[in-house]
Amino acid sequence: MSKILFKNCKVVDTSNEKIVKSDVLIEDGVILDALPSIDLKDVEIIDCNGNFLIPGLVDMHAHLREPGDEYKEDIRTGTMAAIHGGYVALVSMPNTNPPCDNRSVVEYILRRSKEEGNADVFPCGTITKRRQGEELAELADMAEGGAIAFSDDGSWVQSSGVMRRALEYSKFFGGIIISHPEDRTLTVRGVANESPFTIKLGLRGMPEEAETIAIFRDIELARLTKGRLHIAHVSSKGNIELIKLAKASGLNVTAEVTPHHLIFDEESLSNYDPVYKVNPPLRTRDDRHALLEALKDGVIDIIATDHAPHADFEKMDEFNSAPFGMIWLDLAFVVLYNELVVSGGMDLVRLTKVMSTRPAELLKLEGLGAIEKGYKASFFAFNPEAEITINREFIKSRAFNTPLYNSSMRGKVEWTVKDGKIYRF
Ligand SMILES: [Zn+2]
Repeated sequence: MSKILFKNCKVVDTSNEKIVKSDVLIEDGVILDALPSIDLKDVEIIDCNGNFLIPGLVDMHAHLREPGDEYKEDIRTGTMAAIHGGYVALVSMPNTNPPCDNRSVVEYILRRSKEEGNADVFPCGTITKRRQGEELAELADMAEGGAIAFSDDGSWVQSSGVMRRALEYSKFFGGIIISHPEDRTLTVRGVANESPFTIKLGLRGMPEEAETIAIFRDIELARLTKGRLHIAHVSSKGNIELIKLAKASGLNVTAEVTPHHLIFDEESLSNYDPVYKVNPPLRTRDDRHALLEALKDGVIDIIATDHAPHADFEKMDEFNSAPFGMIWLDLAFVVLYNELVVSGGMDLVRLTKVMSTRPAELLKLEGLGAIEKGYKASFFAFNPEAEITINREFIKSRAFNTPLYNSSMRGKVEWTVKDGKIYRF
């Protein structure tokens, strides 16, 4: 590959916490230099037109549905939606069909990503065999095969003994144990937050305490084992306190929040539209505000999408029977730029940190999370003025289950560069 020079960029520099006018020179998928001005002849020049140049995003929680449910999404469409949204790497969750509970599935996903993937895929293996919560899966073997983390996502590991052993074993090969915190005995057949508001709507509730109890136990097991615990999709205010205390006592605990818990709350359910049905459920406005504050002050480390594609016929079912989840990979950055930066009091550097730099750190992905000499040529150009309409043509995911369908907004990923390869939109 020859050299490419990107001129007129406003680089989001998360190390120095500022936005700098800069030119960026790349070769063979690597950044050779990023300086206020680079002038070279005989190189391909791409004009950024003064747009932001942002380090490629990293999603620690995405459902790509392959193997088994390719009618919802597959590795090719999911990673294309990712690139379209500025993501260059993502962790694929293991509740597929069959589940990713052994090395051969891990290797299958990696092989398919190599063949058809756009963004890089890092498989998450299950904690227990068939995600049944009883017998520990072969974690070390999966790690050797390329699994980057372990989770029974979709289910909490109900047995404290099994979870304890997972946290202990994972220390030997450096894996991250991701908890989907939900005491199912409190949420059976629940479809929404348990609150006065949803009781009025007649929806069966999932109390916040189901999450609190699970997070509390997992933190105590992290204390006991000194293991590496990551808490998925924190959704309520009370749980932020638990994570804050765990961090203050020096535990190796991190946490994520989804875009939907930051921008929607249970009040969106008043029309019984299943597009808002997610797990954990959208909680109160107070919870939503607390999550944003926790993200700003670092108690919650990252935004992870929980991208959950479903076919139209599934999501258009009635509220009680429709599956949980919404899609995000195409949209998360643009939407969060509008909701958190333009009108939410967070600056662009911080948003970039929680969507790129910090998740790359947690996953120990080298060369991602910054636009600096020696880093990978993986970044995207963001034009905050261009207008987009979120319709079938726009969405690259196979699924369309987002409440933002058919809405228009400002902000567009003009192109994404991943390891030097340019995708234009
Ligand atoms: Zn989950």
